[in-house]
Amino acid sequence: MAIEPAVEQRLVDEARAARHASYSPYSGFAVGAAVLGTSGRIFRGTNVENASYGLTICAERAAVFSAVSAGERAIEAVAIVTPAPPATPCGACRQVLWELWSPHRRSEPTVLIASVESSQPDRRSLASLLPDAFDATSLGEPPH
Ligand SMILES: [Zn+2]
Repeated sequence: MAIEPAVEQRLVDEARAARHASYSPYSGFAVGAAVLGTSGRIFRGTNVENASYGLTICAERAAVFSAVSAGERAIEAVAIVTPAPPATPCGACRQVLWELWSPHRRSEPTVLIASVESSQPDRRSLASLLPDAFDATSLGEPPH
């Protein structure tokens, strides 16, 4: 089921707004993300850097974790706004996004990628960004 254009626009607007809260003093690479939960609620996230670089979290994961913390268990779409040119999610975020899509798989996951300068986002599928994804089916039968 396709997401309505007005909802997609709202998702991009929320990601654009989330970018303003970025804590990125080391890279200066401010990113905003917004995920649409299957409940219809939208959750924002932004990147949060740390002097211990490995502790940094990306905007996409921050948004997903916010959604899960609020009770969402599956997401329909994500919008990401980065400095120009538009950047795709890192590998870790692709994997985390896949986890929250995989429980339902009702529709082709939508990834909207925009830069601060672009008016229209690029539309990508998560399957194209993460082919042969590792997920629960990769684990086989659960332990008894
Ligand atoms: Zn990432």
